[in-house]
Amino acid sequence: MKNQLLDILKKAQKKGFAIPQFNFCTIAQLKGIIRAAKRLRYPFILGTSEGESRYLGFNLAVEIKRVVERELGLKVFLNLDHGRSFEYLKRAIDAGYQMVHFDGSELKIEKNIAITRKVVAYGKKRGVVVEGELGYIPGSSKIHKETLKIKPENMTKPEQVRRFIKETGVDALAIAIGNAHGIFPKGSFNLDLKRLSMIKREVGERVFLVLHGGSGIPSKQIKEAIKRGIVKINVNTEIRQAWRSGIERGFDTNPGEITPYKVMSGAVEKIEKVVEKKMKLFYSNKY
Ligand SMILES: [Zn+2]
Repeated sequence: MKNQLLDILKKAQKKGFAIPQFNFCTIAQLKGIIRAAKRLRYPFILGTSEGESRYLGFNLAVEIKRVVERELGLKVFLNLDHGRSFEYLKRAIDAGYQMVHFDGSELKIEKNIAITRKVVAYGKKRGVVVEGELGYIPGSSKIHKETLKIKPENMTKPEQVRRFIKETGVDALAIAIGNAHGIFPKGSFNLDLKRLSMIKREVGERVFLVLHGGSGIPSKQIKEAIKRGIVKINVNTEIRQAWRSGIERGFDTNPGEITPYKVMSGAVEKIEKVVEKKMKLFYSNKY
């Protein structure tokens, strides 16, 4: 059976662009994403973390994805981001997610491989794309005051990559090359691009490389990472930040306002701008 998500990832690999994943859990975020996508017409992945998916519920998330697709007349995909157990990802697959990400980065590699392999076996039969993770990506999707400190020993080891993809059969792999979740003080990011190229040599065209932490990393480094083989980039924090500051502005300019859509419109606009900026950067007119 033809898998449209794998086809787009292959196209990204060939043409040298990256598909964005935008996480969401509210209508304001979706509206911002839809408004940007309506103009730019680039494919994208909607993501929900375990927390975001628990808040929405799997069924609502899956139905929302379908509505967004109809609204845009564009193919949209839904990924369960950073699932920590086989059981949780199995439920997401059964509910209708097109992609799942198993994050076993805090486990020993043997355990990480064993669970990832189990997710792959379950997902592949159902046409679901599976992302694994090797190496530890620090941070969380928020604004950090402290400078980012990356320990080289936590980065993805190129020599482990071949074994990991061979023994798990994953379609995509999230890697740690100096990236982190969240926004950090200026100058925090210095991606290890040499390491990325070494990893790319190990995987060739067999696996799609994923960069988490698409919010904080400077555009120049993002472009270089795409050039060296990254084909999917996750964005969450900048959308969350736009949501918060938009709502704050909404309350500041309309004190006492209780009509949600009147308070939310600023947030939608700010999110739209973030999504537009990321789409243009990741696609660079190469789609
Ligand atoms: Zn992530």
